[in-house]
Amino acid sequence: MALRQLIAGNWKMHGLTGDLDKVGHIMRAADEAKPDIGVALAVPHTLIFAAAELADGSRLDIGGEDCHQAESGAHTGCVSAAMVKDAGATFTIVGHSERRTDQGETDVLVAEKLSAALKAGLSVILCVGESEAERDAGNAEAVVAAQLKTSIPEAVDPDRLTIAYEPVWAIGTGRTPTVGDVAAMHDSIRRSLKDRFGDAGISMLILYGGSVKPENAADLLTASNVGGALVGGASLDPESFAGIITAAG
Ligand code: PGA
Repeated sequence: MALRQLIAGNWKMHGLTGDLDKVGHIMRAADEAKPDIGVALAVPHTLIFAAAELADGSRLDIGGEDCHQAESGAHTGCVSAAMVKDAGATFTIVGHSERRTDQGETDVLVAEKLSAALKAGLSVILCVGESEAERDAGNAEAVVAAQLKTSIPEAVDPDRLTIAYEPVWAIGTGRTPTVGDVAAMHDSIRRSLKDRFGDAGISMLILYGGSVKPENAADLLTASNVGGALVGGASLDPESFAGIITAAG
């Protein structure tokens, strides 16, 4: 069934094996979600195997938060897309703004990671989003369009690609764009995807991310072309995440 909306959590650098009971809780919320609502959770690499085992047979998809661009090799401490898949993930996030900032990841590198992930058989959530200065300068849509252009490699299966629009200034800050601004950006992203992929670009999901909470989820999720949410902080609290899942659809 084609998903109407996807609610994806991103645990970032949080979570030990003692937190796996939270995955169980989120799994139950996923199983109770409306039929065309997907639920996914990206966890640190160290938790993928155990979380995927736990979620096996449920409607919760477990994913990674990043992967290396190379298939394998002398890259001490790095994790390849095939390893992420082998551990039990069905998807990975690439291009999160925290990696773009902390690790200096460029659009070109993000495109390489995206290719590696698809080649390994994973689906991908590609993150894009403008800084506050870029928004204030009136450049938000142009910045995001440029990120999409370069971060999406030439050969891509659009059925396995989801975009997450995450304004950098809204991540973890409690601030969100207005519903109108979210809709305008998502409409603009949709135009880019249609230009690039034709009909396939019409059905690709475009998630909104940045300070999504149960209190604002219903409003944000009804904005034009919003195909779900990428949820950081609130996904660490299963009750809050379940509230957002309920708001979808
Ligand atoms: P946040 O993070 O929900 O804590 O703002 C979102 C994200 O970074 O994916």
